Amino acid sequence: MTARLADIDSTGRLLVISPHLDDAVFSCEALLKFAGDARVFTIFGGDAPQGAPIAKWDLQCGFTVGTNVMEARRNEDAQALGVLGAVPIWGTELQEGYRADPPDDDHVTKLIIEAITTNAPSHVVFPLGLSHTDHLLVASATGAAVRALEVSDAFVYAERPYAQRQPGIVKRRCAELRAQGVELSTAVLSRRARKGDRSAIRCYASQLRGLQMSAFRMGLFRERYWQVSWRDE
Ligand SMILES: [Zn+2]
Repeated sequence: MTARLADIDSTGRLLVISPHLDDAVFSCEALLKFAGDARVFTIFGGDAPQGAPIAKWDLQCGFTVGTNVMEARRNEDAQALGVLGAVPIWGTELQEGYRADPPDDDHVTKLIIEAITTNAPSHVVFPLGLSHTDHLLVASATGAAVRALEVSDAFVYAERPYAQRQPGIVKRRCAELRAQGVELSTAVLSRRARKGDRSAIRCYASQLRGLQMSAFRMGLFRERYWQVSWRDE
């Protein structure tokens, strides 16, 4: 069975959960553009602790010592979401590289439950959980949140660029989720909705530089979604 994301434009409110300040747009540009009412909740939007040395990743992205990196990244995100007519909601958790320990799963689940309750979306879209510990954490925390709230229209997205860079990673992750009792059915964007033009992706110049990936190349890999549900245990 193929689920559809087709009714999101006129009747729905889309809430995309993004681990970092770029993942939602990198992975769901066309969907965000198509949705009439779209919001993006970014979990790891918090500033690096004051006085901390600049993170290796931030150097790779072209930032220099003394820059408020996260402020610059939030500006990129605001610009990109502005292009798509979507609203940013920035969480304050510290991303990997800025913290000693990852946040507790339950804490992140609680934040996501609050975001879903406050924004009352018809559709919740969250990462499959590819490649990066922060992505895996957000994937499992959102899964727990949508289960707790019994969200019926919950979808996962394949994260670009990881999905296109690591052959087999999507298949492996889907198999892992199925083994955990998650049912995944391919969800398709209607033809009208496949109109990402990379102009929003292009706004994240710092991250594209760090990833050594062009917006053009990222856009060559089509957006992929699955509706998720859980088998009764
Ligand atoms: Zn990310």
